[in-house]
Amino acid sequence: MSAAPSRWSQLSPSGRRVALEVLVHGPLARTELAQRLDLSTPSLTRLTRPLIDLGVLREVDDAVEQTSRPGGRPPQPLDVDPGLDHFIGVKLTGSHAYAVLTDLRAQIVRSAEVEVDDHRPAAVVALLAGLVAQIRGQRPAPVAAIGVGLGGIVHEGFRVGRAPFLGWRDVPLGDLLRVATGLPVVLANDLDALMEAEHWFGAGRDVSDFVALTIGAAVGCGLVVHDRLVHGGDSGLGLLGHFPIDPLGPACPDGHRGCANALLSMDSIQAQASLAIGRPLTYDEVLDLALAADPIADQVVGNAARGFGVLIADVVNIAQPQRVVLTGEGIRLAEVGWDRLVASIRAHRNPEASEVDLHLVKDDPMLWARGAAAVAIQRTVLDTLP
Ligand SMILES: [Zn+2]
Repeated sequence: MSAAPSRWSQLSPSGRRVALEVLVHGPLARTELAQRLDLSTPSLTRLTRPLIDLGVLREVDDAVEQTSRPGGRPPQPLDVDPGLDHFIGVKLTGSHAYAVLTDLRAQIVRSAEVEVDDHRPAAVVALLAGLVAQIRGQRPAPVAAIGVGLGGIVHEGFRVGRAPFLGWRDVPLGDLLRVATGLPVVLANDLDALMEAEHWFGAGRDVSDFVALTIGAAVGCGLVVHDRLVHGGDSGLGLLGHFPIDPLGPACPDGHRGCANALLSMDSIQAQASLAIGRPLTYDEVLDLALAADPIADQVVGNAARGFGVLIADVVNIAQPQRVVLTGEGIRLAEVGWDRLVASIRAHRNPEASEVDLHLVKDDPMLWARGAAAVAIQRTVLDTLP
């Protein structure tokens, strides 16, 4: 049941650089690949030969180039076979576990989900092991590694330091799940995992600096600078959620008046509108009412959208990303309040500053599970599994 020794562990550091470049940006013509890595053609040829022998890289046909070049053997672009390895990504929440089986480029092959009733670690491990078996199917597909993403703080990729939604502190979930499944397991904070997936395989693939802002139970922020995810000991605490936006706004549970969570979390928007309108409303009902031009809902949503614009502008002014990805369970706020959001970003930037490149990514639990799979992919190909 355990995975075969990884072909990725046999790569030299420079061979790995070549493989990663092709994995993330391929297929690539050899000339372009050499240019991207600042290598001479002979060096590149020397590095790619063992990768082709190992099956990590393959030559692919490029029909367009072939027909446009009379005579001679056209240079064949290099690519990675995405079906070379498979991975499982799991997003664990207090109520559900969502799992995806992906290929080497984090494309989802199939997905499954299960309810989480019992938060005791042994019960969660048994549940996840069952989910892993289910998604592998009756004829277990070879799986290189499992990634698990959850809200909270994760240490060294295998230990949950703190996961409030499960009531956990210091649970070696990675070790427990590795023993239960016989597969390598890596844990990550769920937003970090989502960032890594966007960085290698998504909206951040073609830029070196980008930010993701999420709206859900709280406001989250992830930052990739110079192609590296910004990560510190407090990553997973949701630090940006307490960014001050409106000194006269409502207070968050930690007592900050008008912080991002107090203004923009789904609960807060729902509570503000329910109180003002005088009946209990769901988050989506508030947004629907705003769309239907209900003046009170529209005011609450408009204030939140403008507040979100302030937050985005401040983050962009500080970090200067090339792109901003907006997602999360409550990101419909940005859709409904789009015009006010964009106007507010503009109003809080230097008038000469460039337009912010905003990407709205529709939220889906499987997107977060895919993030966890992406971390398993990264740790496998970089040969840094815990
Ligand atoms: Zn706060």
